[in-house]
Amino acid sequence: MGAFAAPTSAIVGALKCQKDSYCSNTYPQTLATETAQLSGKSKTKESTDPTKRLADGDSTPSKTYLIKLADSVLFSEGGGQHTDHGSITTMNNESNDSIPITNIRRHKPRRPWSTVADSLRCIYFSPVPISLGMPVHQIVDFTRRWDLMQQHTGQHLLSAIMDGMDLPTIGWKQCNEKIRDGIPITVETPEGRGSNSLPENYDREKGVVRFIKIENMDNNACFGMHLKQSSHIELILMQHMQSIRGTSCRLFFTASDRAISMVTKYINGLRFIGVSLSSSSATADVAAGVQRLGDQVSEARKKKKKTLAEIAKFEGEHIKSYLEGHQTAFLQRTTDGLDFIKLVVFEIKDTVKEYGVVVLCSGEVKTPRLIVLFGNPGLVEGMATKVKDVVSTAKWQKGEIEALKAAAEAK
Ligand SMILES: [Zn+2]
Repeated sequence: MGAFAAPTSAIVGALKCQKDSYCSNTYPQTLATETAQLSGKSKTKESTDPTKRLADGDSTPSKTYLIKLADSVLFSEGGGQHTDHGSITTMNNESNDSIPITNIRRHKPRRPWSTVADSLRCIYFSPVPISLGMPVHQIVDFTRRWDLMQQHTGQHLLSAIMDGMDLPTIGWKQCNEKIRDGIPITVETPEGRGSNSLPENYDREKGVVRFIKIENMDNNACFGMHLKQSSHIELILMQHMQSIRGTSCRLFFTASDRAISMVTKYINGLRFIGVSLSSSSATADVAAGVQRLGDQVSEARKKKKKTLAEIAKFEGEHIKSYLEGHQTAFLQRTTDGLDFIKLVVFEIKDTVKEYGVVVLCSGEVKTPRLIVLFGNPGLVEGMATKVKDVVSTAKWQKGEIEALKAAAEAK
């Protein structure tokens, strides 16, 4: 093979996807310009670790190759926007298989190819290598891209509106009016104009700074991809605000189809709850039904607590009476566990602690076992030895409760 002069790669800021964010698929003139295997599993805790990502999401790929292409239709993570998903297909006989791509990053100096210029290039993380100079097709998952652009451009529009208003007064109506107006959203790359929001390792001299302009409302530096007009956001659903350390506020919103999908789930959820409550699915009816149910549960708890106290008092009286002619007593209740046992102990403690011992237990066969011994310390010690002889595992076994009763009541 003769000497091969590899073409250079387009820089982040002037990638094909950034120049034309509506370019959805094949872009056949792209050549692989460099390829290298990512060595070993990284021990870094950084969430961008591609080896870790592959291990989490797919157990099959064991190797990752870093590939530079002459240009990119897929967006690399940055500017507050996620990496595009998509695929690349080589155009020679090397392989006709589509190679899935879910991780593209702007190169960081500590990776291979650690020159300053590389901080401007995007790198594909691929499960297979591609030969140098190989022409490839790139295909974007455009449904996902469109959703990401709607959320991201929606964020720009919301920020622009927020700049002119108090946060609490912003409503979905103002946002959606601006969407309906179909305001043009343009990108400008003026030479020599800097920005404080550039990433630290981005080469400010050789790089391209992109300013996203929403008419006369907003003009901010951003690497992300944007819709061409506000009407393509379709709608913004304002949700709620969350205070951050009392000094800032996070506003939750969702745009377009993602918002419709979310609201559809909420409506179906309300309908389901409405059916369970035997009410309509109207929000007010469901809220009233849930409130009513909460009140009923609270009332039922109070009644149960009172009834349990009455039963404990009755059982306590019975034990005290029994101990007038015996030194040991046994009580088992299937339900209510330690709550019930504590109530019984409260009833009998003054009588029993001096001259008797009581075995109190809860549960039934194949359920967790609870045994409490209470009474005179010397008698409790002796009874503990008997109990250990009868019970084995953490759950009641068949016949154990009867055997424990017999052991406890034996003279
Ligand atoms: Zn942006």
